[in-house]
Amino acid sequence: MERLTPVEQHAPGKWQIGTVSEIKQETPRVKSFVIELPMWMPHLPGQHYDVRLTAPDGYRTQRSYSIASSPLDEGRIELTIDRLEDGEVSPYFHDVVIERDQVELRGPFTSYFVWRGEAPVLLVGGGSGVVPLMAMLRHRRRIMPELEMRLVYSVRSAEDVIYADELGEDAVLTFTREPPADWSGHVGRIDSALLAEASIDPAIAFVCGSNGFVEKAADLLLESGVDPHLIRTERFGPTGP
Ligand SMILES: Cc1cc2nc3c(=O)[nH]c(=O)nc-3n(C[C@H](O)[C@H](O)[C@H](O)COP(=O)(O)OP(=O)(O)OC[C@H]3O[C@@H](n4cnc5c(N)ncnc54)[C@H](O)[C@@H]3O)c2cc1C
Repeated sequence: MERLTPVEQHAPGKWQIGTVSEIKQETPRVKSFVIELPMWMPHLPGQHYDVRLTAPDGYRTQRSYSIASSPLDEGRIELTIDRLEDGEVSPYFHDVVIERDQVELRGPFTSYFVWRGEAPVLLVGGGSGVVPLMAMLRHRRRIMPELEMRLVYSVRSAEDVIYADELGEDAVLTFTREPPADWSGHVGRIDSALLAEASIDPAIAFVCGSNGFVEKAADLLLESGVDPHLIRTERFGPTGP
């Protein structure tokens, strides 16, 4: 098997202070943050960092965010954060953090949800679950663009498509609520017909999104005959698209 990068997973580094160098509005409720790290370590696509916020009274809270960028982007990582209306950490990033701000973070964390160069690869993402899958797509495009990798991506409506300008023929989309006016592709929740559209017989499949989305997608993959050992899942939260 071809190896992507000579990266072995280690215990995550210490907490460090990163500097936000760029903020991109991806969709009305999703922003990407490029963060420069003084103690950057190469990661494998799929890994995540923890971000920690500390209030003036000492109260602390932390959340996990997947790395969206390729490990070829040395010295920095990109995190893509969905703003949850009643959330604690995600609204802080959206409403308070500006370029040149400093944020505390630790990673990359070891995980079984990592892509090491296996192919063909099927990526199945719901909502912000596309983030770690994008790290895989971006990395593959830069180092072995001919490698077979296909993304199946479920979103609510056209305005919710994260990384819209980077999705090409290797992505199959479904719109669960409001498809674009001229849309002739799949609509509604993920089903076997949508997975069949990806027309790939995966050597490995990565599924990421809300609990419900991951359950459904993993069940469909099993029903279609994919070996359970080849399915890797990552769950972001209780609800989803
Ligand atoms: C390994 C890992 C990687 C992750 N990567 C990303 C990422 O790349 N981008 C990203 O946006 N998020 C990601 N998440 C989710 C993230 O860690 C937080 O859970 C999320 O940002 C909510 O935090 P919050 O403080 O804003 O909301 P909280 O204050 O924790 O929760 C507010 C409310 O929203 C509900 N809730 C919590 N999480 C979700 C969710 N994901 N979807 C819907 N409802 C939710 C809670 O039950 C609660 O009712 C990841 C989670 C894990 C475990």
